[in-house]
Amino acid sequence: MCIFCKIIEGEIPSRKVYEDDDILAILDISQTTMGHTLVMPKKHYDDFLQMPENEFGALMEKVQQIADQIVKRMNAKGCNILINTGETAGQTVRHVHVHIIPRYDENDTVSFSFTENQYDLDEILKKIKEN
Ligand code: 5GP
Ligand code: ZN
Repeated sequence: MCIFCKIIEGEIPSRKVYEDDDILAILDISQTTMGHTLVMPKKHYDDFLQMPENEFGALMEKVQQIADQIVKRMNAKGCNILINTGETAGQTVRHVHVHIIPRYDENDTVSFSFTENQYDLDEILKKIKEN
């Protein structure tokens, strides 16, 4: 059983932000920023790409509600919604989960850098779209 399944089953304790029959939201142990929360389906899927569309839709509806609640209650200025998919992308727990990372200050420890383009956009588009 994966670590998040153990949390869902109550074998490992967690601080629950939200719970219903299908979804659990818990405070992330790292607290990258105050209120950093993980929202996950109770049913195990390894990652985002494995989830059925309708279940992902329902999950994201809850993510939006919980993010809104966290931003308001924590007096954050915004939030990042993040889904790491695959080890290369930083996924360390193979049970799909959505990070809600409240943001208080643009100089905090969270950063994503979007670099200048060095690729041929038309070739990329062809690769993505060709059958
Ligand atoms: P990932 O890197 O897979 O996108 O995110 C996994 C997250 O799970 C990390 O931010 C990490 O801090 C969090 N995490 C790992 N183990 C536990 C745990 O036992 N309890 C809680 N609450 N969070 C955990
Ligand atoms: Zn699991």
